[in-house]
Amino acid sequence: MHLKHNSHHLTDKELLKVKEILGTPSKVVIIMHRSPDGDAVGSSLGMKHYLEKRGHTVTVLSPNAYPEFLKWMPGTRSVIDFEKTPSPANQSIAKADLILFLDFNSLKRIGDLEIAVKKSKAFRLVIDHHPQPEKFADISFHNVGSSSTAELVYDFITLLGENKKINKDIANCLYAGIMTDTGSFRFSSTSAHTHDVVADLMRHGAETTKIHRFIDDNNRDIRLRLLGYAVMEKMKILPDFATGFITLTQSELKRFDYREGDTEGLVNEPISVKGIVFSALFTELKDGEIKISFRSKDKFDVNLFARKHFNGGGHINAAGGKSELSMDETILKFLTLVAEYKKELKGE
Ligand code: 5GP
Ligand code: MN
Repeated sequence: MHLKHNSHHLTDKELLKVKEILGTPSKVVIIMHRSPDGDAVGSSLGMKHYLEKRGHTVTVLSPNAYPEFLKWMPGTRSVIDFEKTPSPANQSIAKADLILFLDFNSLKRIGDLEIAVKKSKAFRLVIDHHPQPEKFADISFHNVGSSSTAELVYDFITLLGENKKINKDIANCLYAGIMTDTGSFRFSSTSAHTHDVVADLMRHGAETTKIHRFIDDNNRDIRLRLLGYAVMEKMKILPDFATGFITLTQSELKRFDYREGDTEGLVNEPISVKGIVFSALFTELKDGEIKISFRSKDKFDVNLFARKHFNGGGHINAAGGKSELSMDETILKFLTLVAEYKKELKGE
């Protein structure tokens, strides 16, 4: 049982070092990746509450804004948005004794926060579940088999022998991270251990029904209209390539009063069509760059696809990337690639 996660991925020496560092109250900075999702925010805030219980002073930084539907989480108001207020973010990094990088494996994902991080002498700890990690930390608690970084934060606290310190706030944040990264426990990354962790979080007070309501039933009606429009008018299904995709331009997003997080989950619509194994969502950002989300089923590896063709990465079945071409040129490139991958996509 629990095959996927069995070992704790730290050597005895590393574990001792972590215990030593966390044994003395210090200044800790936790950094999330750009456009943080439920797992990034949940694991970071869960870790913040745990470290504060141990007497550390903790600052959580986000490279940019994060979605409204995650702002119910305890501790959310203390998060510093680097894009909005760069100087307190940079100062906290300059003063930090320890920097934690949660839910990403490449410094590229924190944008210009990287500059302050590179100057810092702080000890660096990564906790993450993405494949093909780059090495930029002193110690890495890493497992590609974990459903989420939030699950790994639970494992980390438990490994330290501190499971008893998990309180309602920690449990709520970690539950939110696991639930969002597993698509509410349905993606293949969900293991028996994931369910064990969730059961234990419930024992520690996680308010699961309330969290599902906060996350799933928190729509502005105009957001639902955007999703309806996207599916009705903008979704293309290419059965010959087992592929579906949606495009949204800035002017379309503006028409529906777009806010950060509004298109969350939309990429899962084309892939819910019978026979479709690959889907993509292309959204045009304010600066004209095209942000892309990829999803796949089974063997088609969107991490490799995003890395190779769209300057991105992620997991085998969920990844992201970007394009500096126009929307039309990006779609042309995408369609050409899809034709090249036809055999793989059709499982032939
Ligand atoms: P989403 O489509 O939800 O934004 O991202 C799906 C997955 O791909 C997440 O695990 C995320 O960490 C990863 N991802 C999204 N965008 C990028 C990117 O630009 N670069 C890399 N390396 N990973 C990304
Ligand atoms: Mn994650």
